[in-house]
Amino acid sequence: MATLERDVVIIGAGPTGLTAAHELRKAGKTVAVLEARDRVGGRTWTDVIGGATIEIGGQWISPDQTGLYSLLEEFGIETYPRHKEGTSVFVGPDGKRIEYTGEDFPIAPEKVAEMDKLIAVMDELAAQIDPDRPWEHARAEELDMISFHHWLRTLTDDEDAATNIGLFIAGGMLTKPAHTFSALQALLMAASAGSFSNLVNEDFILDRRIVGTMQGVSKTVAAHLGEDVVFLNNPVLKLDWSEEGVTAYGATVTVSAKKAIVAVPPNLYSRISYNPPLPRKKHITHQHQSMGLVIKVHAVYDTPFWRAKGLSGTGFAPTQIVSEVYDNTFYEDTRGTLVGFISDVHADAMFELSEEERKARILADLANFLGDEALTPEVFYLSDFGSEEWTRGAYATSYDLGGLFRFGPDQSVPTGAIHWASSDLAGEGYQHVDGAVRMGRRTAALIIAALDGTAHDPAYDGSVPVPDTAHA
Ligand SMILES: Cc1cc2nc3c(=O)[nH]c(=O)nc-3n(C[C@H](O)[C@H](O)[C@H](O)COP(=O)(O)OP(=O)(O)OC[C@H]3O[C@@H](n4cnc5c(N)ncnc54)[C@H](O)[C@@H]3O)c2cc1C
Repeated sequence: MATLERDVVIIGAGPTGLTAAHELRKAGKTVAVLEARDRVGGRTWTDVIGGATIEIGGQWISPDQTGLYSLLEEFGIETYPRHKEGTSVFVGPDGKRIEYTGEDFPIAPEKVAEMDKLIAVMDELAAQIDPDRPWEHARAEELDMISFHHWLRTLTDDEDAATNIGLFIAGGMLTKPAHTFSALQALLMAASAGSFSNLVNEDFILDRRIVGTMQGVSKTVAAHLGEDVVFLNNPVLKLDWSEEGVTAYGATVTVSAKKAIVAVPPNLYSRISYNPPLPRKKHITHQHQSMGLVIKVHAVYDTPFWRAKGLSGTGFAPTQIVSEVYDNTFYEDTRGTLVGFISDVHADAMFELSEEERKARILADLANFLGDEALTPEVFYLSDFGSEEWTRGAYATSYDLGGLFRFGPDQSVPTGAIHWASSDLAGEGYQHVDGAVRMGRRTAALIIAALDGTAHDPAYDGSVPVPDTAHA
């Protein structure tokens, strides 16, 4: 067992923990990062499966994600655009398949108008909400009392419009049924991306990818940190703390430090035994943030066959098991890769099936979108973060009804020498790698100021405007 003394110990080598470590090192602080897994990157994870590079976790970056873009620029990491050319496919509740172009689903004009009305309401409210402090909005308490599902139905009598809009945030983002989280939580998700319109525009939110993969960003930062900084296979299960300092106990390394950053998703805070126990408010708060669940489906074919038919690979089917599909062909790969998503209760149902039944069921949905060629991929793989001990769900955590207003104001308040940071606690970039980078920088800046006795800007997250060339 190695015993180390450092200025700061960071628990978790995901994008948040590694960005914080990088900032602290730049300020001349000594750091140790203890990571439970045998790899860095957390919910960003890439592997070669059946000869294909698969982004098992986070992968896309959108134009507003200037926190992540500035980190990419710092390390000279390039991005590339997602393949978007061609027509999209919509499969309606009646199973009818329609090819279309443009942003609107090919549904009755009055339903499009009703959806546009709901989008306008969401945009207006999201513009009034500060993603760092959604609980301060004048209607925050009221909006946190009602489920997103029921709130939408107070705005429209059109069931299809309410279902479609609900799915953008429920299945598409928080990966929980719309009746399990509040309207305020949904509006935070929208505000964190600049607007609800941004979130529902797949060409915006799924704009580009990282040439060296998203996990590659964490690997690059970790390599830059150098020797004796990141310690893998070191789950921290015990943390002694006071106002003056901490001692973190990993499997092979114990670190005493002036400050700790717990950079793990909030649903895992209680894996750590705190000595003394955390204050009552933290104990309660930490029980109200839970992970969603989504299966990311990867299917690799010898060619991107859909492109030859004039299809982009993009498809939506609000009532199908696989409700969205996109062309996810990896950088300069001559083969074609599709990625699909199966969210919340649909994911539960899929895990009840045998492996063969599950595969057949999922491929049948892909074929509904893009044709029978989809039935025979060369590689078929499902991302299942729900079975990962050090994540336990996907993509991220959100509050139960009323939790955001009641507990949100306390979520990032340090406890003695312990700081809490992850993309789950971010305002801008909430639930995304961008939010992780922002939280890592913000928390490091707070600690540097405390250790050096200098002034501190609580809004600092190091983001810089993105050069136009990034979106060319
Ligand atoms: C399937 C999937 C798809 C996604 N798609 C996108 C996307 O396209 N774009 C995007 O921007 N974001 C996406 N995300 C979200 C993004 O990956 C996360 O927001 C981001 O990784 C969060 O970073 P983090 O460092 O806060 O937490 P994590 O990435 O979860 O890192 C936390 C780390 O802490 C470690 N840890 C946990 N407990 C302990 C302990 N007790 N001791 C030591 N270490 C511990 C974990 O092993 C992990 O490495 C996706 C996520 C998933 C799961």
